[in-house]
Amino acid sequence: MRYEKLCMIDIDSCKGILIVGYGISGKSVYNFLKSKYLNIEVFDDLNQNVPDKFNSNNWERIDLVIKSPSIHSMDHNCHPIIKEANDRNIPVISTFDVFRIYNQNANLIAIAGTNGKSTTTALIYHILKNSGFSVQMGGNIGVPYFDLPKSEWYVLEMSSYELASSKYLDFEIAGVINIELDHLDFHGSFKNYIYAKHLALENAKYKIISLEDEYTTKKYSNKENVITISTKQNKDADIQILENTLFDSESQKLVIDLSGLDNLKGLHNFQNIEFAYAVCKKLGLSSAEILKNIRSFKPLPHRLNIIRKINHVSFINDSKATNPGSAAKALATFVGYKIYWLVGGRSKKTDPMPYIKDYLSEVQKIYLFGESMDEFEGIFKEQKKLTRCKTMESALNLAYRDAKEERGPSVVLLSPMCASFDQFKSFEERGEIFSELVKGLK
Ligand code: ADP
Repeated sequence: MRYEKLCMIDIDSCKGILIVGYGISGKSVYNFLKSKYLNIEVFDDLNQNVPDKFNSNNWERIDLVIKSPSIHSMDHNCHPIIKEANDRNIPVISTFDVFRIYNQNANLIAIAGTNGKSTTTALIYHILKNSGFSVQMGGNIGVPYFDLPKSEWYVLEMSSYELASSKYLDFEIAGVINIELDHLDFHGSFKNYIYAKHLALENAKYKIISLEDEYTTKKYSNKENVITISTKQNKDADIQILENTLFDSESQKLVIDLSGLDNLKGLHNFQNIEFAYAVCKKLGLSSAEILKNIRSFKPLPHRLNIIRKINHVSFINDSKATNPGSAAKALATFVGYKIYWLVGGRSKKTDPMPYIKDYLSEVQKIYLFGESMDEFEGIFKEQKKLTRCKTMESALNLAYRDAKEERGPSVVLLSPMCASFDQFKSFEERGEIFSELVKGLK
């Protein structure tokens, strides 16, 4: 659905604009609108030192509210400021909407899903850029919209938060990689979460979906302009994997041999490659061009990165695995290795067993750390030898002590299945500290 310019809010003529949330996105939109000499006020629950701090006596002057992605706006836990704006009939739009309003002619590619968004977004960007496209990458991947140079194409990682609260979604191509339980605190129910992810597809000209995602397949597999993907042999899929090779049903050709790719390991990364292939093919690139650029892609940090090898023991940083679905993919990647698994942090409160049960036989020992220790002790106590460690550092030291004694290839795997916020600032900090500790091991 293309939005006519006329029905979009004319931000330049707003009298007073309130930005709620002054994090990376909030700051970026603040700087952009401030440079247009607009009247801006800022509200942030945690940061009282914001510029142009909102004075709640000024509600009469506000005629537009811009919401940062993580500010809750759903009925079950709506932020009081957003609720007040709704009660006063003041329009509330997202930072994405502001970007859309000022970039109405740009072509947008949206990548959504529970896991694999950043990798797929970065991979598509890398392929397009190196094939000569005028393209930028941003959104949830950590580059706010208003820090992006002007471009014809934008590859955007869209979080479910941003999708749920945007009014001007309008994509040339959108892909939903997968949907698994996550972020229920924000969305209130799994149904709402699925709905938010599907908004990307609902508002896209071409839709790319995975046939392994039952929620999306049910709704979209028979619609027009849908490209279907499977990581298995599947006669219904437009793009599938046959014996480690990407097969394109349209050309009836095996087009990309994936077996020798060291930069994108594991079946889950094959899935990300399939999504990237589907997007780039739609934009007219040849499979040879796509493959060349997949080969030169540098994997993002904190996603299954091999940090070091000491004799037969490899140390893997997968700090970005913040939910059971992504940790299961890490375990699947190391089938055949003896796995010494570091687990813990702020739990997502989802039962991990349905995701990981098939791989537990590969796990030699589980080292628990952080806030979720009691919860996971309860879940795993029947399954495996457990060690309570309190900190990630002691978990690493004990795992290395045990893995050293092993004979065959072994991995010490940080794939914590939890958010990091109990002991670290972010998953990045957790991964960096892990990597430094590994480098310092004797
Ligand atoms: P997101 O941006 O959606 O969090 P990332 O690319 O940052 O996705 O990867 C997050 C975690 O999920 C990492 O641990 C990674 O190994 C794993 N992962 C990557 N791609 C997939 C996929 N297609 N399916 C499941 N897990 C994946």
